[in-house]
Amino acid sequence: MKPGTQGFVDTYAVGFARPDRWSGGEPAEEQHPWHAVEAHRAPAELDGEIELAICGAIVQIWGSQRWERVGAGRTACPTCARLTAVGRTLTSAR
Ligand SMILES: [Zn+2]
Repeated sequence: MKPGTQGFVDTYAVGFARPDRWSGGEPAEEQHPWHAVEAHRAPAELDGEIELAICGAIVQIWGSQRWERVGAGRTACPTCARLTAVGRTLTSAR
């Protein structure tokens, strides 16, 4: 990554957990299906990729979603939200 070329380096892609697909048909209703994935490329480029979320969950990248927005919602993985400290963006007034 070239220094100074981008405003913020902490970019997270949004991953969607799909228990129907990953846990062998268990009827688990996922309450927090959205996870954050460290994006080393533009999230749009990672769309559809299977990645490891920062909390350890295996998720599929949903490139059209933005973690800054999804992570603040109630359906976001609490662990991912805490690890990315997404809440801070809400309190920092612009
Ligand atoms: Zn997570």
